[in-house]
Amino acid sequence: PEQTATWVRSTFVEFFRQKYEHLLVPSSPVRPRLDPSLLFVNAGMNQFKPILLGTVDPRSKMASYRRVVNSQKCVRAGGKHNDLEDVGRDVYHHTFFEMLGNWSFGDYFKEEACSMAWSLLTEHYGIPASRLYVSYFAGDAASGLPADEETRHVWLDIGVPPSRLLAFGLKDNFWEMGDSGPCGPCTEIHYDHVGGRDAAALVNANDPDLVEIWNLVFMQYNREVNGSLCLLPQFSVDTGMGLERLVRVLQGKRSNYDTDLFTPLLHAIQQRSKVGPYRGSMGTADAGRVDMAYRVVADHIRTLTVCIADGVYPGMSGAELVLRRILRRAVRFCNEVLQTPPGTLASLVPTVCHILGNVYPELHQESNTIINIINENELHFLSSLQQGSRVIHRTLSKKDYKHGVFPAAVAWSLHRDLGFPLDLVDLMLEERGVRVDHQELNILITENNKVRGRLQSCDESKLTLDVATLAELQRLRVPHTDDSLKYQYHLE
Ligand code: ATP
Ligand code: MG
Ligand code: MG
Ligand code: MG
Repeated sequence: PEQTATWVRSTFVEFFRQKYEHLLVPSSPVRPRLDPSLLFVNAGMNQFKPILLGTVDPRSKMASYRRVVNSQKCVRAGGKHNDLEDVGRDVYHHTFFEMLGNWSFGDYFKEEACSMAWSLLTEHYGIPASRLYVSYFAGDAASGLPADEETRHVWLDIGVPPSRLLAFGLKDNFWEMGDSGPCGPCTEIHYDHVGGRDAAALVNANDPDLVEIWNLVFMQYNREVNGSLCLLPQFSVDTGMGLERLVRVLQGKRSNYDTDLFTPLLHAIQQRSKVGPYRGSMGTADAGRVDMAYRVVADHIRTLTVCIADGVYPGMSGAELVLRRILRRAVRFCNEVLQTPPGTLASLVPTVCHILGNVYPELHQESNTIINIINENELHFLSSLQQGSRVIHRTLSKKDYKHGVFPAAVAWSLHRDLGFPLDLVDLMLEERGVRVDHQELNILITENNKVRGRLQSCDESKLTLDVATLAELQRLRVPHTDDSLKYQYHLE
């Protein structure tokens, strides 16, 4: 059959369902429920955390789960797993992606998990074993964690040659959900898009042609809030494979963006743009700059659509603030690089729904809301951009303006009053050949952080804010993001 993304996703699910009796559990919304340690759902296991920890209500349906499979909507744009900075610059990190996963809760363990994964990849998907590399946990003396020799032997028995079996430390092969939460050693499968070479040195080295595709975590510990590790009541298997990366492999493409999960979006963007088509080049200058803009907009519109459908709207704090930044970043790339008309972002929503709506029906159900919210936010941002340009223009034409150096207080007020991220202010100034006095600006930032620190140490249970802190807030004209704190507190 043609290996469409739809086929790849359902083949994964059916493999575990039919061959190994896994129960299909639907994706949870991307807004974490009952877990303040997360901004967004960042992995398939999030919704199963209570099972892993052994805190699940015995009367709930979840308590009976032994073997589970799912495809989970994930967002990695904040917190421990934050890939926002890579998006558009590389071709395999997205802010929103789908994670295919299978779980064993106190049922099968390392041997079965590895052989199921290997059989699915090499037999069912037909990936040549000669393109695969496998990594396992090397241990970490400082934290008293042993090397995962057991897993190494499992892979050798499966037939992975020693030269393709590589050990890595905590950073790559000990998976943790967040600063706290379930964790354990993991073993990962990487794919060489080139082939016919020894590419062991490129594993986990940020090479666009040697990409991690599947992570199998052996959940054995919980990272406590104080940083220590405790053994979990039972050992579990938690796996996660990025659908976009797998589809790229199976469709033999140079990048995730060349698969059918993205090409309709790139095409729709091109129809609205005054610049040329997407060419797939890298880098951030010239053609690379245009292509990066295509990737950023295609990525961000997926994230916006999925998040808004799940009730996370662009806003002033937490996940909402992250989403607002994502929207603004997309608007700027549309405006300044792709030269598309206002309303472009929202006009892409039907394409996202077309690509993903059959699997995630909430996208269809919420599509009008999504379109309206994106349009409202875009209009608001475009008008503040205009206002910002006017402020900059006025400042630069003042008589007392010192040539080349932009006053920090004005830069700060762009941040405070118009909600511009400071790097955007820098960029807008750079475009006009001036720069801000960073030393002076840093003083303003430091003072602001001090107040923020005081706010955070306020007695949250009483929800009070003392008058002195408020006065200081007002004196420093703390920007919107912090203003939102004010509304959470009653004045004393
Ligand atoms: P990487 O090292 O490439 O950043 P990771 O080790 O952070 O990936 P895991 O936490 O192990 O990723 O997640 C499991 C799988 O999810 C990865 O093997 C990969 O296929 C996929 N994945 C992770 N992050 C992203 C992302 N930002 N965009 C697309 N797929 C991702
Ligand atoms: Mg990562
Ligand atoms: Mg990794
Ligand atoms: Mg990984």
